[in-house]
Amino acid sequence: MSQLIGNIYIVVAPSGAGKTSLVAALLQAEPSVELSVSYSTRAARKGEIDGKHYHFVERSVFDAMVERGDFLEHAEVYGNCYGTSAPWIRGRLEAGQDILLEIDWQGAEQVRAVFPDAIGIFIAPPSIEELERRLRGRDTDAEEVILRRLASARAEIDKIAEYDYIVVNDDFERARQDLISIVRAQRLKSGPQCRRLAEMFRRMGTAGAQ
Ligand code: GDP
Ligand code: ADP
Ligand code: 5GP
Repeated sequence: MSQLIGNIYIVVAPSGAGKTSLVAALLQAEPSVELSVSYSTRAARKGEIDGKHYHFVERSVFDAMVERGDFLEHAEVYGNCYGTSAPWIRGRLEAGQDILLEIDWQGAEQVRAVFPDAIGIFIAPPSIEELERRLRGRDTDAEEVILRRLASARAEIDKIAEYDYIVVNDDFERARQDLISIVRAQRLKSGPQCRRLAEMFRRMGTAGAQ
């Protein structure tokens, strides 16, 4: 299933860079892109809804899913387990749907091994100091969790050249437009356009003159 009709977007960012906020804004502007809801063993944050932000599961359930091969990819991130549902992804791709995965860099590498055409997008903060301000400002994580996430951020930024696109989330509106532009440009590529508009171009071409 490595020949894609729909696009797979993989959005990676250091925690606190604004990935979740930007992806939510993108999905509002481009509702035809569907978000993959990951499984996670982390506790739900205030305001997070089971089945919408994540499928929150116990570690024993997560491990059983790994055993059954239910995940396209899974990884341990900051001490919790996260995974992407393989059957959901397969179903959406068979339907020709564009999908977006909001996952960590380890998961991104696993997905690109299966789908080399997946589009990798890295969201970078404007500085480490601003990243720390956002993580603290979000007020959802304990001090120890924040420190662990900041330490990982530098290592993640070292791998930035592996992505197809890089969006710096300094001014939110600018970053939102950048992300939307990536999705729109991808749709306008000639391969997908020729498939989608085959009949229109056939009629406009020499065949239509006969
Ligand atoms: P935030 O995205 O930094 O607010 O924090 P989360 O706790 O929601 O996510 C923690 C990390 O797990 C992030 O790097 C996510 O991208 C990553 N993550 C979320 N879902 C998945 C998944 O299904 N698979 C993998 N591999 N990573 C995931
Ligand atoms: P992530 O999903 O990458 O961990 P979030 O989307 O939760 O990041 O954003 C982290 C915090 O930073 C949130 O409180 C969010 O409102 C804020 N934020 C996101 N983008 C910007 C920006 N461009 N300028 C200032 N604050 C931002
Ligand atoms: P948070 O716990 O703050 O929501 O997310 C922490 C990190 O886990 C983020 O970098 C997020 O992208 C990542 N993450 C969320 N879901 C998945 C997933 O399904 N797979 C992987 N590999 N990482 C995930």
